[in-house]
Amino acid sequence: MKTTALILAAGKGKRMGGKIPKQYMELEGYPIIYYTIEVFQKSFIDEIIMVVGEGEKRYCEKEIVKKYGFNKVKKIVEGGKERYHSVYNGLKAIEKGGYVYIHDGARPFITEEILWNIQKEVEKNKACIVGVPVKDTIKLVSRENIVIDTPERKKLWQIQTPQVFEYSIIMEAYKKIIKEEDSTITDDAMVVEKMLGYPIKVVEGSYGNIKITTPDDIFVAKELMKSQGRE
Ligand code: C5P
Repeated sequence: MKTTALILAAGKGKRMGGKIPKQYMELEGYPIIYYTIEVFQKSFIDEIIMVVGEGEKRYCEKEIVKKYGFNKVKKIVEGGKERYHSVYNGLKAIEKGGYVYIHDGARPFITEEILWNIQKEVEKNKACIVGVPVKDTIKLVSRENIVIDTPERKKLWQIQTPQVFEYSIIMEAYKKIIKEEDSTITDDAMVVEKMLGYPIKVVEGSYGNIKITTPDDIFVAKELMKSQGRE
């Protein structure tokens, strides 16, 4: 079956501050999004669809896709207000089903090994996400910062991307959520859980697969780049 990666780069990066969206910020000489797409370009993935911010299509085509020769990028589409709107726009741009890899553009440390592991699982389970067991204790806290509950740590996983689904499943779930407008949605699995109740398998990824979100992450990202010899 065909494999398509939707690379999300339509966020405004408010938590990062700065003038340019975080995915275009440079890290060791290249924009963050360059490192992310490079992994998918060199992998078994058949095609890539980029989802970018309003008015950024031309910039992305010239300064990222053409400049670095990413010939697996078949389409660049504009995203929407929330992440799930952006994902839906990307899904609509897929011409023929197969497996859809939804990945945050701001996670450049994804590896081909993780992609392979999730591919093997999705062929059996149709809906798989990458995550790692939590190391810290997690608490549910009220608006007034009072602890409500402490879920058992052994059962908690920190979820990352890629999140991979058979096209028909993810499309059906998104068609339903888009009619409902739900601002609590933070990942794709949540859409499938809420709308279809379909079982989703978690595949162990790596603690290094961070999402570059706040200025602190830039420091960690530079160290990770060095350790992977990608600087
Ligand atoms: O906001 P968050 O950190 O969860 O964003 C994760 C990814 O989703 C980022 O790569 C960001 O560019 C993307 N995103 C998007 N459209 C939005 C919001 C976020 O493509 N409206």
